[in-house]
Amino acid sequence: MANVSRQPICTLEPKMQNTIVIGVIIRSQNSKIIELARDRFNAGTRAVWNFTLRDSFNDFINATVWGTVEYVNKLFTTFTIGSVVEVINAKVTERKINDPNEVYVPSVTSPFTLTLNQHSSLIQMHNSPNTARYLKFLNMPTKDPGGATNLNHILNNSETLKNEYVDVLVAVTFVSQTREIVTRMGEMTKIREFEVGDDTTDQTVSLTLWESEWIRLADKWEPKQTILFLADVQVVFNEKAKKSILTIVRKTIITENPMLKETEELRFQFQRKPDIRSTSLYAVPNPNSITKQMMIIEITSRLNNASVLPSNDRMQLLVVVRAMVDDMNLDCDDPTLISYRCAKCKRLVSDEKESCMNLECPFGSGIKSPINITSINVLVNLKDDTGYLVGCRLRDAAAEEAFSCSADIMRSEFKIVSSTYTT
Ligand SMILES: [Zn+2]
Repeated sequence: MANVSRQPICTLEPKMQNTIVIGVIIRSQNSKIIELARDRFNAGTRAVWNFTLRDSFNDFINATVWGTVEYVNKLFTTFTIGSVVEVINAKVTERKINDPNEVYVPSVTSPFTLTLNQHSSLIQMHNSPNTARYLKFLNMPTKDPGGATNLNHILNNSETLKNEYVDVLVAVTFVSQTREIVTRMGEMTKIREFEVGDDTTDQTVSLTLWESEWIRLADKWEPKQTILFLADVQVVFNEKAKKSILTIVRKTIITENPMLKETEELRFQFQRKPDIRSTSLYAVPNPNSITKQMMIIEITSRLNNASVLPSNDRMQLLVVVRAMVDDMNLDCDDPTLISYRCAKCKRLVSDEKESCMNLECPFGSGIKSPINITSINVLVNLKDDTGYLVGCRLRDAAAEEAFSCSADIMRSEFKIVSSTYTT
């Protein structure tokens, strides 16, 4: 590649040829399929993937990859946030002022944008002792932290800040499990919720991650330990909850544990606080984030005391229990072993083809034909030195992992076994 010249992001010029740009991916948006049926040159389906590349404290640029669905998906899953990559022979074009597409990409320092085409550009891993030099940019905020606002200001000025983009430095207080939901378009997608706080208010704010790369990274976030700089989160009024919330949008860049003096201060403050519960009683946390341990006797005494709670109060106890499985109901004649739930509202349905009975749900009201989730649902009794915990449920992803078996496979096995029983 004698004619290819290595260019730092800050030296790029429009229409430059044969460039190689090395940098670390600091943000990656889910790849998307675009129907181009009406384009006479590119008839058919193509895919697009958008990411942000950084090669110095000051310099970062947005890049867009175009190609076949297979090609783009392969790149999207190979090159993740934190990959140090070489972008070869991308087209360098000037960003236009007032370009409506700028709303959907992060604010970057480069006046240019990179476009990679399957047939003329290349992206590959950069393997050199220099890689570590790039990795430190992952912990540097992409905007001046001096311009950040605080949660108290956002919560008290929801009307004036409505639809505005803000930057915040916050401590993670809760991280949920990844869960599957059905979008308004009727498609299944994975999301993960998390909650954050800062030193200006006792309230926490919940946010949702939709991009699979952020969802993956959040698996390592620890409550009261992980500090995030959120650049360009949007203040949105939630009609349902009748309050302002913060939303991660395509413009947002999340910097984990930013290298700032304020990061240490905020972490120190949150570590001295008692555990902060999720604002939602039904939120299920990422199991990796639970550290508190309990013996069974402590749990049973909490449960007994909980029976004096008002009837509509729900107790949630998030602890690690080290216990033996004393009994497990895997009887094939147990009809509850495999259960079906509506993918949207999560209500139990009697059969996999049935709609839920929830009239507020698009599947229950008949607007859409039902999409149900099949799940394993096993009754388990646990035992440790201090006592028995009877009637535990091992279900969904945890059950599939425990049995190394998907719900669909167990269901088909289950049918074989039950037919042998009946014949
Ligand atoms: Zn439903």
